[in-house]
Amino acid sequence: RAKRHHTENFAFYAPEIEESTTTQLGMIRKLRSDFADTKLQLWFQPQIDLRSGRVAGLEGLLRWPDGKGGYIPPSEFIPLAEYSGLIVDIGRWVLEEACRRISQLRENGYEQLRVAVNISIPQFRDRYFVEKVKTALDRYNCPSGSLELEITESVVMDEPQIVIDALAALKAHGVAIAIDDFGTGFSSMSYLQRLPLDRLKVDRSFVNDIVPGKNAVIAETIVSLGNKLGLVTIAEGVETQEQARYMTELGCDEAQGYLYARPMPFDDLMQFLSGRQG
Ligand code: C2E
Ligand code: MG
Ligand code: MG
Ligand code: MG
Repeated sequence: RAKRHHTENFAFYAPEIEESTTTQLGMIRKLRSDFADTKLQLWFQPQIDLRSGRVAGLEGLLRWPDGKGGYIPPSEFIPLAEYSGLIVDIGRWVLEEACRRISQLRENGYEQLRVAVNISIPQFRDRYFVEKVKTALDRYNCPSGSLELEITESVVMDEPQIVIDALAALKAHGVAIAIDDFGTGFSSMSYLQRLPLDRLKVDRSFVNDIVPGKNAVIAETIVSLGNKLGLVTIAEGVETQEQARYMTELGCDEAQGYLYARPMPFDDLMQFLSGRQG
C-alpha cells in the first residue's frame, strides 16, 4: 500500500519511505514471533573491579539470532521493539531471565555478583513495572541488591517524574540503579541528585578518547563528578591496557569492555568465571 504524506493539499508518494517502513514492519513481525518462540537470548558481559581485578558484576545484553548463525544488533532492533511496544514484554522477559541467572550464579557460589539490565522508557510507562521487577526477584528468590537497572539520560528526560518515582520505589526495595552512557544525552545536573543512583557508567566514547599522550578531560571530569556524588564509577568500552590504567589513575572503580571479555552466553560465562575466580 502506498504511503502518502499530506502536506496541505499536496500528497506525494515516497517509495524509499515505503520500502523502509515495510522492512521495519517485517522486522517487528519477525521479532514478535521469534520472541514468542523463545529465540531471544540474554548474554552477559563481566564488569571488573579495577583495584582487585575481580569480576564485580555483569551486564545482561539481548541477542536476537538471525537464523544464519549471526545476530541482529540491538542498535537495530531495540528501537523497533520500543516503537512497537514489544519492549514491554521483552523487557519483562529480560528481568525474569536475569533473575533466573542470578539464582543459578548463587547456586554455583557466585553470591556477590550483581546483574544489570537495561530498561527502556515504555517499560517505565507500564504502571505495573515496579511490581514486575519485584515479582521477578521473588520468583527466583533473589536478594534485591543482586539486581541493577540501567537507565540512560534520555529515559530520565523523557518522563522525569514517572522514572524518578519508579526508581525511588525500587531503590527502597533494595534494587541498585545505574545511569548508562553518561555524558551522551541531554543531562540535567539537577536530575543527577534527584535520582537514587548507585553507579555511573562513563560512556565508551569518552573512554575511547584516551590515547597515549592525550589526556581525556571529559572522562576525568565525569569520574570526578561521580566520585563527588558518592557513586561507584564504571568505564564502558575499555579495549586497551592504556585505557584501563588511565581510568584507574582517575579514580574510576570498575571497567567493562573487550579488554576483559565480550558479552557471552551464560554457559560461556560460567566457564569464564570458573577459570578466573573459581
Ligand atoms: P549499552 O547498555 O551501553 O551496552 C553496552 C554496549 O557496548 C553493548 O553493545 C556491548 O556489547 C558494547 N561493548 C562492550 N564493551 C565494548 C568495547 O570494549 N568496545 C565496543 N566497541 N563495544 C563494547 P550491544 O550488546 O550491541 O548493545 C547495544 C545497546 O542496546 C546497549 O547499550 C543497550 O542500550 C541496548 N540493549 C541491549 N540489551 C538491551 C535490553 O535487554 N533492553 C534494552 N532496553 N536495551 C538493550
Ligand atoms: Mg547498559
Ligand atoms: Mg552503556
Ligand atoms: Mg551504549
